[in-house]
Amino acid sequence: MQIQNTLTRKKDTLEGDKEKKINLFVWGPTVYDHSHIGHARTYVFFDSFVKYLRKNGYDVFYLQNITDIDDKIIARANENQISAKEIASTFLKEYYSDMELLKVNAVSRYAKATECIKEIIGQIERLLEKGIAYKKEDGIYYDISKFKDYGKLSKRTTQQAEDGTSRIDEGVEKKNKGDFCVWKFSNKEPKWTTPWKEGRPGWHIEDTAIAESFFGPQYDVHGGGRDLMFPHHEAEIALMEGISEKVPFVRYWMHTGFLTVNGEKMSKSLGNFVTIKDFIKKHSPRILRFFILKSHYRSPLDYEEKNINQCSVELRKIDQFISDIECACQENTKEEKEEIKTIIQETRQKMKAALEDDFNTPLAISELFTFINKINPEIKNLSSLDAKNITEFLKGIDSFLEFIFCCKEERLVCYQDKENISKEIERLTKEREKARKEKDFQKADEIRKKIADMGYCIEDTKDGFKIKKI
Ligand code: AMP
Repeated sequence: MQIQNTLTRKKDTLEGDKEKKINLFVWGPTVYDHSHIGHARTYVFFDSFVKYLRKNGYDVFYLQNITDIDDKIIARANENQISAKEIASTFLKEYYSDMELLKVNAVSRYAKATECIKEIIGQIERLLEKGIAYKKEDGIYYDISKFKDYGKLSKRTTQQAEDGTSRIDEGVEKKNKGDFCVWKFSNKEPKWTTPWKEGRPGWHIEDTAIAESFFGPQYDVHGGGRDLMFPHHEAEIALMEGISEKVPFVRYWMHTGFLTVNGEKMSKSLGNFVTIKDFIKKHSPRILRFFILKSHYRSPLDYEEKNINQCSVELRKIDQFISDIECACQENTKEEKEEIKTIIQETRQKMKAALEDDFNTPLAISELFTFINKINPEIKNLSSLDAKNITEFLKGIDSFLEFIFCCKEERLVCYQDKENISKEIERLTKEREKARKEKDFQKADEIRKKIADMGYCIEDTKDGFKIKKI
């Protein structure tokens, strides 16, 4: 499989070890508020990606950190006059429940920053020993001038890294403007005791400490939104390669594009966000998952209601197709059509080619609709075995897309209940179809009325007709 690697700026072949084992780390949430659909964009993508890899035989260990100690959490706790711990645990529960609704459940292990303080302190001690970090009045800082490769991921020079347009730590006494804090001295709660002064960790070192404790100093894939490329991911490389002198710290770096509103990144600070909960209240988790996977993970994805409505129209088409296939499954005909087998096989190959090329879900999804369009004209003539083959094929794809099949509440059309449609109605609908094909519209209308008298209506759509109970 080819993936675009931010480190090399090209598509690289993703390879695990001999056993196809892949260690993957994705930056998790800072738990001080509800997550918005921009966060969902990044987490839905990695969820689907990991499920696809596992389906294809990779043994992926997917690790996600939880930032449960941070200035934003402390500020929110002070506003609400409760502890930082309470804020973090409240919003962590909310995060888990949002992810569950979105079927984001591929993470092997969540690791909280507060559970890794010992590992963080251990890394800082090694940095101090090597002279890469230094102590000042307010904390301990990483000296970026000691790491010659600083900027290799974001392709910034040290000078550009210090231009002040990105989030860098304040700190009046720092040696270089771009130096970042690894430990903040503070005697206010939450604080931890250290060999130096008590305080709390800086935000970059949390990830390297967690990752090292699970994977060692080097691992395979690191992912997150593109805003993390600098300074966060750059700082992580400097930290871990500085400590271990093993290069590269991570072999593949994957970054998702932003979910935007009028072209601007959706974010808490800009106030242009829609929480996952509000979106779900208005639409459904399934529509959000589909909306996200319909665009390529590296492209910007603009959130507009009209785009969401278009998603509903397209999902309705999928629902109608599934409903028709379910009806065909209830037939008792076993002969397989070669033509259907070929369509399934060709679609499977085209989807695989799309997904193996930097996980191109929009292309794979367009192949799904082409598939539906190819099968639809044949739908009334499918044997139960054809229908079962189609269902199996769709279930395979849905094991990582997870928007094709859904619970009753999320369906956008009522599925036909074949068992409740009597043989007589079935016979009449076939007769009506025949009349229509022969352009005997008067006869077709008479049959429609007869069916209506029996309590059913026939709806003609461009993909065929549907029978519904009146
Ligand atoms: P945060 O809690 O803000 O640090 O974000 C958690 C993850 O969500 C990070 O990987 C961010 O890059 C990602 N993220 C935040 N906002 C957006 C957005 N608007 N679009 C895509 N990803 C985002």
